[in-house]
Amino acid sequence: LADSRIEENQVKELNQLSISYNKMLGRLSHAFETQRQFTANAAHELRTPLALMQVQLDLYNSTRHPDNDAETLQTIKMVTEQNDRLGKMVKTLLDMSEFQTVSRDEKIIVDALVDEVLADLEPLAQEKDITLIGKCESITMMGSDVLIYRLVYNLVENAIRYNHLGGQVTVTACRKEQKVCLSVSDTGSGIPENLRERVFEPFFRVDKSRSRELGGVGLGLALAREIVRVHEGSITVRPNPSGGTIFDVTFTQGSI
Ligand code: ADP
Repeated sequence: LADSRIEENQVKELNQLSISYNKMLGRLSHAFETQRQFTANAAHELRTPLALMQVQLDLYNSTRHPDNDAETLQTIKMVTEQNDRLGKMVKTLLDMSEFQTVSRDEKIIVDALVDEVLADLEPLAQEKDITLIGKCESITMMGSDVLIYRLVYNLVENAIRYNHLGGQVTVTACRKEQKVCLSVSDTGSGIPENLRERVFEPFFRVDKSRSRELGGVGLGLALAREIVRVHEGSITVRPNPSGGTIFDVTFTQGSI
């Protein structure tokens, strides 16, 4: 009798725990949803004034202004560049907030997608005489084609931008048991050990002025991490033994 009472109490306790666990999960997902909505609304609101400024700037830039001095032209150039940067940031924030609604049950031919990214980034690589190498097994996975393209694109674009002249970028993809493993390695400047984990934070840049010079807004890897998260995968960064950086992405769920 005493034993069954103890069991009964344990079951009660477990029930209580599961109720509070469910409540907590509910609150957490509500908080996430509120944050997502806020980001989406803020980005939407910012889009209109930015687009208006862009129209005015385009109009101004397309007209000849013989009376303008060098200082005015320099100011206009700077404003145009900053407006462009803001536009990129707002677009990325909007994309991120819309991830939850994107379909993730498409069959993706990983090797073909990597080839497409490499072909699209070839002109950028040529500017720095960088060799792009694809070493992918013929594999498929389930996910959002457009998001996985963006993920690989962001990683390869960074591998080119933060590389040395005449460097190399290698993309590998293979299946290990039920997992799809994708790696992007470069022969670039590398990332200091104490900052490696922080590169996934929004707006974080190792060298602010250099990234800005290269056209970055500090959201590429935050976006990559978010894409991996919605596909229930993982993304990590490690130093390349021969100098440079390697980003490893692993997908378990949904791969076929
Ligand atoms: P950004 O738009 O500045 O490139 P990201 O989120 O894509 O923003 O990257 C964050 C920062 O991480 C970059 O500013 C850069 O300092 C560093 N980083 C990203 N990829 C690499 C890489 N392959 N090699 C060296 N540093 C990198």
